[in-house]
Amino acid sequence: MSSYIDTHAHLYLPEFDSDRDNVVEAAVNLGIGKIFLPNIDSSSIEKMNQLAERFPGICYPMMGLHPTSVKENYEEELNRVVQELKIHRYYAIGETGIDLYWDKTFFHEQGLAFTRQLDLSVEYRLPVIIHARESFHEILEILEGYRSKGLKGIFHAFTGSVEIAEKVISMGFKLGIGGIVTYKKSILPDVVRETGLENIVLETDSPYLTPVPFKGKRNESAYISYIAESLAMILNTSAEEVGRITTHNALQLFQPDNHA
Ligand SMILES: [Zn+2]
Repeated sequence: MSSYIDTHAHLYLPEFDSDRDNVVEAAVNLGIGKIFLPNIDSSSIEKMNQLAERFPGICYPMMGLHPTSVKENYEEELNRVVQELKIHRYYAIGETGIDLYWDKTFFHEQGLAFTRQLDLSVEYRLPVIIHARESFHEILEILEGYRSKGLKGIFHAFTGSVEIAEKVISMGFKLGIGGIVTYKKSILPDVVRETGLENIVLETDSPYLTPVPFKGKRNESAYISYIAESLAMILNTSAEEVGRITTHNALQLFQPDNHA
């Protein structure tokens, strides 16, 4: 059986309240050995950490402030992120970034919060999980200022062009590929053919971005296998190979067995 890592799943959200344990166990039974949990804001920390503690060696928490949660009180929220990093082991900063799709009201603050979290990524030597929605230009401009700082991480739910993909890879990032690659109008097949598996990690973004054939329903980590199958078709290889290389990439990035 193949082995995979889901590098991005919000399994602590209420969508999973009725069957959370089953969702994790179903994923493990299908070969998804590790699941990384991106934080959203102060309201999600406790449930995320509870899940990570319930499934040690399987579920790993990350710490950050999601761009759509950046509001008037973003400094207070960031202080909590800083506090958490001092008292708890987290495996990445995130998710962070800029989202100009849902709401542009706090665009300026989103940029400040993103920059602050990039600084934390440098300080703690942790990978950073970047959420870029209609904001590649703004994000790349900020990242230019970090070229010499050794940033690494994932562009989560990557949807950019081949050109943008090559740019973010040159800056030390992997592309997070999930359900979108299975959608009919996606340009991702062309992107992944150019970049190759060496620059890709798998993710679901559960409960969102559900792959075909379950599009429209709740997403869960077990569906990684559909994403891997889709990538295998596009790249003319096997799902096993997709699993092997993307798992290696994810382990190298997150170092989950390094108990520093
Ligand atoms: Zn997410």
